[in-house]
Amino acid sequence: MSKTTHAKIVIIGSGPAGYTAAIYAARAMLEPVMIQGIQPGGQLTITTDVENYPGFADVIQGPWLMEQMEKQAAHVGTRLVPDHVNMVDLGRRPFRIMCDSGDVYIADSLVIATGAQARWLDLPSEQTFRGHGVSACATCDGFFYKGKDVIVIGGGNTAVEEALFLTNFANKVTVVHRRNAFRAERILQERLFRHPKIDVIWNSVLENVLGSESPRKVVGAAIRNVKTSAVTEIRADGIFIAIGHSPASELFAGQVEMKPNGYIKTAPFSTATSVPGVFAAGDVTDDVYRQAVTAAGLGCMAALEAERFLAAQHVESVAAE
Ligand code: NAP
Repeated sequence: MSKTTHAKIVIIGSGPAGYTAAIYAARAMLEPVMIQGIQPGGQLTITTDVENYPGFADVIQGPWLMEQMEKQAAHVGTRLVPDHVNMVDLGRRPFRIMCDSGDVYIADSLVIATGAQARWLDLPSEQTFRGHGVSACATCDGFFYKGKDVIVIGGGNTAVEEALFLTNFANKVTVVHRRNAFRAERILQERLFRHPKIDVIWNSVLENVLGSESPRKVVGAAIRNVKTSAVTEIRADGIFIAIGHSPASELFAGQVEMKPNGYIKTAPFSTATSVPGVFAAGDVTDDVYRQAVTAAGLGCMAALEAERFLAAQHVESVAAE
């Protein structure tokens, strides 16, 4: 039977932003409820080595870091709910949050920490071979390419990290990038350029995924040089798309103000959205830094701002009585 639960603060999303908000809110005695979503732990659960989260001299693993954050949030008193939100009503307070299980949460304040998800090129052939040789997650699927040839599309940190990770399995990794320079961190670029298994094709884009139908599998890629328009075909068993991320903000469309690129708008130096009592933290709002540590910082800010908001509401209601 579905239940309706009232909470002072509900946090949607369980990445670094969500867990940090939960830890601060729990320690402020707000008894937070966190609805964890489909991929508890967020994007860090599908990465491997984390070398830039402060506090760890040794390389740590993304999934391990998220487990620690989850344990800490639970330990200080967060109620963790393994459910997925399918609708919110932010038109009046308290807010209503509806989940796939049928359960409803009535929230005095809300932290949106739904993060971001991998972007696709939206080529019809990419769609046809998704799950059959086309992937957006080397950590999830790299293992299937032992001794095979793979292509990585993109030039940011994700693309370079995925290419390096894939060398653990693949025979050869070809990175295809639309410009003649990567935007990835220098240290990662240097590792990539030094790696004997990795080649780079510059100024080029994926024109088409080449594959066979039975069994459905990738056999190569048609690559177009953006300067000359020449199309060449290269053989490959797998293609990894690593062209960035889009914010997971659809649930809030038309209810909170957003930037034209779909990121939730917040007040300067604040996590306050256009709806009083609704705060946004992490990759769903940050289109600039997008780091685990900045997401955690924003999560902290969101909880502190929610706490102040709830205290002010309380003062107002006492004064009104
Ligand atoms: P990103 O930095 O936005 O890079 C996306 C890459 O894909 C860019 O090189 C871009 O090309 C290319 N691209 C975008 N649209 C394309 C298209 N339609 N066709 C072909 N290429 C396309 O995304 P990201 O690498 O996923 O990283 C996202 C954020 O997470 C960044 O802030 C990154 O620093 C962070 N991150 C950090 C780490 C780490 O610190 N270890 C690891 C992973 C991600 P252009 O360069 O030409 O724009």
